[in-house]
Amino acid sequence: MLLEDFYEAIKIKDIRASAEYIAENIDSSDISSILEDISSRNELNVRVLDNDGMELYRTNQPYDRIIDRLSAADVRQLYWEAMRSGGLLFKRYEQAAPSRPQNGFMPSPPKNPMQTIVCVKVIQKAGDQTWTLLLGSSITPVDATVKTLRVQLIYATLILIAAAAFLAFILSRGIARPIIKINDSAKKLAKGNYDVSFNGTGYREIMELNETLNNAAKELAKTEKLRRELIANISHDLRTPLTMITGYGEIIRDLPDENTPENIRVIIDEANRLTRLVNDLMELSQLQSGTQQLQISRFNLTDVAKQTIERCAQFTKKDGYDITFSSDGDAWVEADELKISQVIYNLLGNALTYTGKDKTVAVSQQIKDGYVRISVKDTGDGISPEHIDNIWDRYYKVDKTHRRAALGTGLGLSIVKSIIQMHDGKCGVESKPGAGSTFWFELKLAEQ
Ligand code: ADP
Repeated sequence: MLLEDFYEAIKIKDIRASAEYIAENIDSSDISSILEDISSRNELNVRVLDNDGMELYRTNQPYDRIIDRLSAADVRQLYWEAMRSGGLLFKRYEQAAPSRPQNGFMPSPPKNPMQTIVCVKVIQKAGDQTWTLLLGSSITPVDATVKTLRVQLIYATLILIAAAAFLAFILSRGIARPIIKINDSAKKLAKGNYDVSFNGTGYREIMELNETLNNAAKELAKTEKLRRELIANISHDLRTPLTMITGYGEIIRDLPDENTPENIRVIIDEANRLTRLVNDLMELSQLQSGTQQLQISRFNLTDVAKQTIERCAQFTKKDGYDITFSSDGDAWVEADELKISQVIYNLLGNALTYTGKDKTVAVSQQIKDGYVRISVKDTGDGISPEHIDNIWDRYYKVDKTHRRAALGTGLGLSIVKSIIQMHDGKCGVESKPGAGSTFWFELKLAEQ
């Protein structure tokens, strides 16, 4: 649409620049060659007339020669018009249609008659002399070009629309279809069907989404399983001591002879177990909900480990248990002393429960690279690889029939893990079936 206007504007700009250049150099000795050069480069013809309308210079380029066809009166008229408009004038001429018949036919007037732009510049010379500079340049009709371009544009647009539609189709197959498939699976997952698998195919991002959702489904299934186990465990764990307490209570009530310290002891022990279970549950839910604040202080971890071991040893010595402790110097940490001693206590309690016939547990401390590690090693049956990742989960018990394991709550290691995570530490276990287990945790050493 704008091609014609642009073309004309550029042309006028060129003609004006040429006129100004010629006016500047009109007194130059090689003005003739300058004129020839300008006229051939800009496709225009030039005439220079003096005060009396006498021709001083002219170029003879084979372009439209309208400036030659102007009469002396026309030139005079143009001169005055140019003077009125500040010495520079642009005028447009339309080439007249041939008026004589050609080959016996009268040709119809051309649809797009050739147009010529004539520029008139008045050059002030010394004295009162004024010269007239005439430049004429024809404007090639761009209509035909515009038409060609328009047709081309229509074709190009149609081809591009078709290509875009095809591409959109391919892309939608690659992106939308797998997403629809994944969405269907996600709806099933939302309804509680944890066996769904996400397997939308296509781009890498979709594959990654599959993987993430498959993992989420796996985790949800695990949580759901643990939730069911939890209810089963809690009801079982609560029912056993309650049955014992009720049973022994009734015996003592009905048979006065049975009111013995041993029977009372059973009731107290079972009540204590219930308290422990409820405390552990409370502790864990508080730890995991993040409502518990750590009471951070700087303390000697080596001393705390020693004290905890001594406290345990007092109870277990009479049963023949032997707990050893070795350390490589005093380790100072910034942590919650009570919670860390609980971690040691839990690991120690497990080791004592599961250690082998020699009834030994070895606790050791190593300092390395700004960290201190406390390891608790037992000589028991160890843990098989299929269970080792799960033992840190709530209520997970490897062997539910194990007599001593049945006494546990299944919460000890989850409490350990939560406390250590709150301290930005690490914990883990190395264990081989038949070769005992070594549970450990690591804390950052306090700065000196
Ligand atoms: P529990 O109160 O049952 O001991 P934990 O969370 O402390 O609960 O431990 C989870 C499970 O990990 C235990 O039931 C037991 O099967 C296993 N486990 C923990 N410590 C040891 C150990 N030192 N040796 C072998 N198995 C262990």
